[in-house]
Amino acid sequence: MQALIHKSQLAGHKAVVVGAAVSGVAAARLLAALGASVRLLDRNPEALDAEARSMLEGLGVELRLGPHKPEDFAGAQMVVLSPGVPVAKLAALLAACPDAQVLGELELASWFNQAPIVAVTGTNGKTTTTTLIGEILRHAGRKVFVGGNIGTPLSDHLLSGEPCDVAVLEVSSFQLQNVKSFRPKVGVLLNFSANHLDFHADIEEYLTAKLNLFARMTENDLAVLPLEMKDELEARTFTKARRVYFTGTSRFPENHLPGAHNRANMEAAWLACRAMGVTEEQAREAVAAFKPLAHRLESLGEKAGVLFVDDSKATTVDAMRAAVQSFDRPVRLLAGGVFKGGDLEAVLPLFKGRVVEVGLFGANREVFEAAWSGQLPLFWEPTLEAAVTRLYRNSEPGDVILLSPATASFDLYSGYKARGEDFARIMAGLPDETEARQ
Ligand code: ADP
Repeated sequence: MQALIHKSQLAGHKAVVVGAAVSGVAAARLLAALGASVRLLDRNPEALDAEARSMLEGLGVELRLGPHKPEDFAGAQMVVLSPGVPVAKLAALLAACPDAQVLGELELASWFNQAPIVAVTGTNGKTTTTTLIGEILRHAGRKVFVGGNIGTPLSDHLLSGEPCDVAVLEVSSFQLQNVKSFRPKVGVLLNFSANHLDFHADIEEYLTAKLNLFARMTENDLAVLPLEMKDELEARTFTKARRVYFTGTSRFPENHLPGAHNRANMEAAWLACRAMGVTEEQAREAVAAFKPLAHRLESLGEKAGVLFVDDSKATTVDAMRAAVQSFDRPVRLLAGGVFKGGDLEAVLPLFKGRVVEVGLFGANREVFEAAWSGQLPLFWEPTLEAAVTRLYRNSEPGDVILLSPATASFDLYSGYKARGEDFARIMAGLPDETEARQ
């Protein structure tokens, strides 16, 4: 498909973009720059601030904010959906433009992208691994764009006109669900576990969406896949790409990334970069300089001999398990919030002996208590502040107080960042001396 698309082909094309968040706005800007006639919709009347509105109107984009109506879609030749907008939910409206091509921002942008793409997906570790791949390639002298589902959408990068040898993209299963032509040079699947089941109908649909990343790759492309899924993946025909399976190694002993899961992330990053011509020495230097990203097993320092670690981005049980496994110290674990699914009982054999106390906070205490009561020392507090204060009071020098909640944060916070920042604020307010804690 890519070869058939010319910039001029979209001139005068009638495009409707649904969803005025970051990727929708980027798609609208790209389409406007290509000469299309663009209408941007969002259900939320407050979706855009005054500055964004006047920028888009200045580009000739027609804004329609408020409930969607069939006439918003009438005559559309193309409908660009934001990730997270299920096609099925819009079926009645899309009936108003039966011949329209329905696609996402990632696919649209990829038609006009010339640089080879390294795409990273998986349940956990995408942002860390995508960023690391970008750093390794940059260290090896490549001009790199890093973005996609994190930071800058590919459309915005194309509009910037920045030179680029490689585009490294984090891609979510939402973005992959409907892609028909997107084809990376290197595709990385980091891991796979239950997540987003509120959106995807079932686990099979969620895995199929992830594997769609590899569907159009050829023998000249490389699929980097987790060894623990080898049997399951070899039994499926999902790609023609060469396959390489990875597991954690000690290839890069000098690094700041804790835990076995990060050894696996580093190995996946290395295999992706090797395929782009990077040497092991170049990768080693870049890995040694790479620091954990904020809110992902980020060490906040010690207080009275107790280490505080912010892993607020751990929104899954697997991420929490990986976090607990990363410490030799006794762990006082902060967990709780909007639980998205996963097996909390399965972590007990690992946690017993390592997790000396659990401080639950916020929503879904009943889910955690059902799995852990009587198995781990445990209490619940309504707020993070109360739970941290209580864990700190009980702690001994040498312990780690670990915020790795295995949940989304929307019960108490606007997002994982706000939750992590609040943890740092609470820590800063705690007394320094061991005696003062009592
Ligand atoms: P994503 O972008 O997929 O959410 P991040 O790099 O932002 O991934 O990390 C999210 C959480 O997952 C963090 O708590 C991190 O420590 C944890 N994590 C990172 N890599 C892995 C992995 N390979 N397996 C399990 N958990 C991981």
